[in-house]
Amino acid sequence: MARIVVWLIGRLGRYAVILVLLPIALIGYGWLGLFDHHPYVALAAALVVGPLSVAGVTLALGMLLVPGAPPLKDTLSREEAPRLWALWDEIDPKPSKRRAVVVTDQLNASMGELRGSLGLRRTEILAVGLPLLMACDEAAIWAILAHEVGHARLAHASGLTNVNDFVGSFDMLFLYADPHDTVLGGLADLALSGGMRRLKREMRAVSRRHEFEADAFAGAQTSDAARALVIVEATAHSMDALVHRPLEQELLGAVSPPPPPIARTAAHLAEIHRRGVTATARLEKPRASGDLLADEALYGSTHPTFEERLKSLGYDAPPEIAPVATPASAALLPPETLARLTKTFDDRWTREARWFIDGNG
Ligand SMILES: [Zn+2]
Repeated sequence: MARIVVWLIGRLGRYAVILVLLPIALIGYGWLGLFDHHPYVALAAALVVGPLSVAGVTLALGMLLVPGAPPLKDTLSREEAPRLWALWDEIDPKPSKRRAVVVTDQLNASMGELRGSLGLRRTEILAVGLPLLMACDEAAIWAILAHEVGHARLAHASGLTNVNDFVGSFDMLFLYADPHDTVLGGLADLALSGGMRRLKREMRAVSRRHEFEADAFAGAQTSDAARALVIVEATAHSMDALVHRPLEQELLGAVSPPPPPIARTAAHLAEIHRRGVTATARLEKPRASGDLLADEALYGSTHPTFEERLKSLGYDAPPEIAPVATPASAALLPPETLARLTKTFDDRWTREARWFIDGNG
């Protein structure tokens, strides 16, 4: 049952709310009929049917007016990153939607979908982390983008947006009927949160399956899919050891912000590339870092492990791979774009660090 509901919501998105509205409409219709034969019963029932109808109307409005996503930050135009865009065009030459490239400060990539009002005017959003571009070369990024394009082509990205839209449809209902103060809001909240728990459990299974499907999609197009997995896995560990942990240490008791993360990554890049060749750097599991959490926010939770993904690509152990010679950040981004992005992320981080230090000092 949960599987069918997830499938329906993934397909219909916010419009799956109609399945909730139908029984409410049926109750309203039955109530009108009741008036002819049992007017007193109908009057008593109005106590329930009245608020229920208003809730139905509110829910319908909420479905139509799901708040749009906030404007995109850190986008890269075709002029700013022609080679990165060319890579996306090469992997996926026939876009069915408008596209945007977003750069993040995370060691990951993702594919999302942005929608205008009523869920129309869809834009495919490819998000690529600057640390990922620095750690990988062009061939590895090719494989990673192929995985993300797989998410788009196999309708994983739009399915996820559909689920979020569905949940967003209830916002207006809760505005009308507060879940803490009203019986109706409380009941709706109970039903939705109970449903959401099951939905999330089911979504985990779905998102795991999606990862394997996107890997297979990439694996069918490039022999670098497993290599990219090894590089990213090793980089997560080496960045944890070389960048994130030292940074946290220095931040404690600091009187001014320490050198920021992207500058540090750049300083350690040769060592990161050296460790990227072997997956032996993963002796200790990296903690749930910002990128893992961001991933969870996008995909629900639990990506399959590195070992599981390698296995599904046909490897029982991490393969021997060629080291990264030229980072994709240098091959795919013009120097001025790379410098600007580095400054943007590091300045932002430094501002937050200063705020943190001042707040604790
Ligand atoms: Zn994925």
